[in-house]
Parts: sequence; C-alpha cells; structure tokens
Amino acid sequence: MNTRHPFSDPELAAPLLRRLEKAITRPFAFMEVCGTHTVALFRTGIASLLPPGLTHLSGPGCPVCVTHDSEIAAAISRAARQDVSLATFGDVMRVTDPDGRSLKTAKANGASIAVVYSPLEALDLARASPDKNVVFLGVGFETTAPTVAATILAARAQNLGNFMVLSCHKLVPPALRLLLEGPECGVDGFLLPGHVSTILGLAPYEFIATEFKRPAVIGGFEATDLLKALIALVEEADSPAPRVLNEYGRGVSPQGNPKAREIMHTVFAPAPARWRGLGVIPDSGLALRPEFAAFDALERLEITLPDVKTIPGCRCGEVLSGRMRPPDCPLFGKACVPASPIGPCMVSTEGSCAAYY
Ligand code: SF4
Repeated sequence: MNTRHPFSDPELAAPLLRRLEKAITRPFAFMEVCGTHTVALFRTGIASLLPPGLTHLSGPGCPVCVTHDSEIAAAISRAARQDVSLATFGDVMRVTDPDGRSLKTAKANGASIAVVYSPLEALDLARASPDKNVVFLGVGFETTAPTVAATILAARAQNLGNFMVLSCHKLVPPALRLLLEGPECGVDGFLLPGHVSTILGLAPYEFIATEFKRPAVIGGFEATDLLKALIALVEEADSPAPRVLNEYGRGVSPQGNPKAREIMHTVFAPAPARWRGLGVIPDSGLALRPEFAAFDALERLEITLPDVKTIPGCRCGEVLSGRMRPPDCPLFGKACVPASPIGPCMVSTEGSCAAYY
C-alpha cells in the first residue's frame, strides 16, 4: 500500500482543507492564471482533493503556450537566415507551427539556434560571434521582461551592434480584462500568479474587484499556499465588495518590484500583442521604444508577423481561456501526448495539457 501523503506538511494542510470544504456553499469556478499553479495543483495532490462544487480552470499564464503561431513562424523564418543566430529558452524549441515546423526541426536542418537559460547568455553569444546577428526570442510575462530589458541596456552600454531582441512578451492584466469582458466568462475568481506578482504587486489587478466584482488572490505554490489562497477566494466571493488579496506574502510585496518595472518601462512600451486563443489584445505586449530601435529585431530584420493557419484539431486556445479542460480535447492522451505534442499546452512544462496528462 502506498502510504506516501500528498502533502509535505499534512498537519498544516488537513485543517485548511476542512476549512475550504466548509467555505464552499455554492458551485464556484476559479481560474489559476499561471501554468505553474496548474502544475502545483497536481503535484501537491490538491487538484484531486478539491471539494465538490469547486472547479479549477486553466488560464493564459503559460508563456510558451500563449506565444502565437505567427510569432513562432516569424522566429523560424529568421533563424533560417545565414547571418542570424537565434537564442531562446528550451521550451519554445518544440512548439510546432501549423505545418509541423519547429525551431527544433529548423536547427536540425542547419539553422543556428542556441538554447539559453538567460538572455545574458545571448549577449555572450553576440560578443563571441561578431559575424552573426544574435536574436534573442523573448517570450514570457512581466517576470522575464525586466531581465530582457536589463540585457538590452547592457548591450547598449557595451556597444554590441549585433544583438537584438524579438519581443513576444505579454502582459497579464490586459488578458484578464479581456476574459472578464467576454460574454462567456464563467470565472468566479482568479488565483493570481505568484511569480508575475513579485514584479506587479497588487495594484494592477484592482480592476478585477472594482469593475468586475470578482475576488482575486495571489497564491504561492505549496499545498498550504494553494489552500490558503483558495479559502480566501471562496470567502471573498460572497462578500458585497470582493477584494484583491495577497496570500503569498513571503514572495510578493504589495508594491511588487518598482525597480524591475522601471527597467522594463525604460526599454519597452505597451503595444498590441497576438495571443494564442485570445487574439490581438491592445496594450498587452511590450515593444521596444524607438530609442532602442537598434536592438529591435522587428525593425532591424524587417519582420512582419505572418498570417498563419491554426494547428488542425488543437484546442489550446479554448484551454488557455478556461473554455475547455484539457481532457475534453479529442486529441488529449491519444494523438497528443508529451512525447509527441501537437499543441504548445502539451509541449511546455507549464502547459495545462502536460500538467493534466
Ligand atoms: Fe492542444 Fe494537445 Fe492540449 Fe489538445 S491536448 S488542446 S491538441 S495541446
């Protein structure tokens, strides 16, 4: 018999679970915005212990998953150029475009593509390869964008003319607004992302409570963090004035990280961005400001995002907007598995479909 308890701290988690069960007085659907929360709900065992009536929906918080097919296609096409070396994070490599091409297959066919763990490594590559234009493919949210901005500032300070960034960054609050404005929004409250919130703090989410009368709670990633956040969400939901709360105080300060935001806004300005499954959302992306045009791959390599087909049969768009749970995709666990993924939600370690699988 397997006696391993799903919690590392069962004596703390068990009473919280009982409190959550008591707090549920009606059906309640919350969205865990961040892919790491989806993974944490399964890793800790909480997903299988949620009280009846409490449903969790995945949100648009996996950076690789929300990167649009047209952004992947643009990166693949530029990586094929002889004068270009592309650098990016590992998860993006296996995302396929609708024709089945990926950065991984492009690399196998001879394109110069490097997997890096930090944008600063791409700067090292640029220094070591003066004959190449080194393009860092920047995907991710407010968590990664400040580091990429700092790298651009470093490139400018070092006069590195062969380093540039293809900015596919996305901002979380505009996506949540879009979901809330949708006529089909079945979300009663948001479990807000722990990592993004270390940068943002609480203020950028206030509209969820003030305009849309929904609660939103920043949560951590351990079993007790998740349970505390869920209890707060459920308790706030029936309040006449639901609030935005922080239940991850050891990681997130109410004001976030102003220095990181300052660096991010020095280099980037909000711009429209294409999201997988959500379409174009105004002011939800980050474009390089004109004074940093020398580091902007869109400008330097004359990139226009192409119109692309969608991946046949893949329902990632619906999964990312909480309109479908991964097991309800007809391809889930059949044609689409982590070893041979069809959509990005099965590719990424933070992807909902991979987490459910
Ligand atoms: Fe896309 Fe695969 Fe998830 Fe279906 S199971 S939504 S095909 S990633």
